[in-house]
Amino acid sequence: MGGSPNRIAVVGASLAGLRAAETLSQRAPDVEVIVIGAESHRPYDRPPLSKKLLAGEWEPDRILLRPTDSFDELDVEWRFGVAAARLELAASGTGGRLDLSDGSSLEADGIIIATGASPRRLPGQSKFGHVHVLRTLDDAMAIRAVVGRGGQRVVVIGAGFIGLEVASIARQLDNHVTVVEGAAAPLIRGLGEEMGAAIADVHLARGVDLRCGVQVESLTATGVQLAGEHLDADLVVVGIGVVPATQWLDDSGLEVRDGIVCDETLLAAPGVYAAGDVARWPNPLFGEEMRVEHWTNAAEQGALAANNLLDAASGETPAPYAPVPFFWSDQFDQRIQFVGRSNPDDDVVVAAGSVADGKLLALYGRDGNLHGAFGLNAPRWVMPMRKQLLDQVSLDDAVAFVATLG
Ligand code: FAD
Repeated sequence: MGGSPNRIAVVGASLAGLRAAETLSQRAPDVEVIVIGAESHRPYDRPPLSKKLLAGEWEPDRILLRPTDSFDELDVEWRFGVAAARLELAASGTGGRLDLSDGSSLEADGIIIATGASPRRLPGQSKFGHVHVLRTLDDAMAIRAVVGRGGQRVVVIGAGFIGLEVASIARQLDNHVTVVEGAAAPLIRGLGEEMGAAIADVHLARGVDLRCGVQVESLTATGVQLAGEHLDADLVVVGIGVVPATQWLDDSGLEVRDGIVCDETLLAAPGVYAAGDVARWPNPLFGEEMRVEHWTNAAEQGALAANNLLDAASGETPAPYAPVPFFWSDQFDQRIQFVGRSNPDDDVVVAAGSVADGKLLALYGRDGNLHGAFGLNAPRWVMPMRKQLLDQVSLDDAVAFVATLG
């Protein structure tokens, strides 16, 4: 870039975008920073949308990522309710031109893309007012208005993390809850079949009608049509995963393949970085390309993308992003945590506890090496596994280490 950039645009005003803006504001007060956010809300936290906010325990002001008055402390221009519609990369130099949904455009010599992901939808879904997805505050408030009444028939399509969190809150609010999942067990993509089955037991024991291996034929005006059965529903929540929000980049020249393809430092093109759910990068620690849809990843990548953009501009070496991925999920009174990675063909070893004990640690191994660790109500067992993953220990050594944890 050659010296400090004049103007940096951050596209996406949520967790990754905010962390980028905070870092830029702190490190480069002389650079003009403009944050473009499609939502009209100030940056808020998404995990509570399927937990305490959905349960009615928290109100929207409680989930802001910064208190309202402290936004003004950041030396940043916020443009809420405006989307980036197109990116044209700079023909020479860095950054490029952004065309915005309000008809204006913006040149920037540094760009950080943090547009996250959008929920997949089922055919015809938008015709039905009782069918929702859960990604935004507005989605959560619409779902809460129904589940908060209690006694409603709620059908959740998809037993992923968000679907199961919605199911657990809806059930705790005394609704009749059915979860329909096409795979053989819930959470197969994140946890594999064996631990997915353990989570199934948690839901079944608490009165959720969880049906796996079941295909949805269609949505109807009164519910959900399965093969040979209709589920009547007052509310349907579709939780069948997300796709990275990259449509607006179709003709940008950036490589997009289930996310914006970046290098180890999150660089996608000269002066253009990506961060958060939208970014795909090679994680040197795991020797594989990944895209991660979790909170810690978005927060860390937002800050790193900003630091790397400034470092590269001033001739310093940008840092690779080599984390041990981490996520958590709360379902009923159970806390799920996962560090590392899982694949469907990983070896899974229960290293401590059991479902019956209400506390469990399972290790995931590939080619004899530790790859991930799953904990059910076991933070004191899970968190030390992060260091084991950083040290790249074997699965056997990890099992032996767990035995020392007590
Ligand atoms: P997002 O939060 O998706 O934000 C992207 C922003 O960019 C959005 O505001 C979007 O409107 C905006 N945008 C999109 N396109 C454009 C455009 N063209 N122009 C301008 N703006 C645009 N993770 C965990 O680890 N644990 C949890 O328990 C957990 N619970 C969750 C519960 C729910 C209900 C949801 C939805 C997510 C949960 N997550 C959880 C995941 C976590 O919240 C995400 O990983 C994180 O929000 C990703 O942040 P992000 O900034 O990359 O993207």
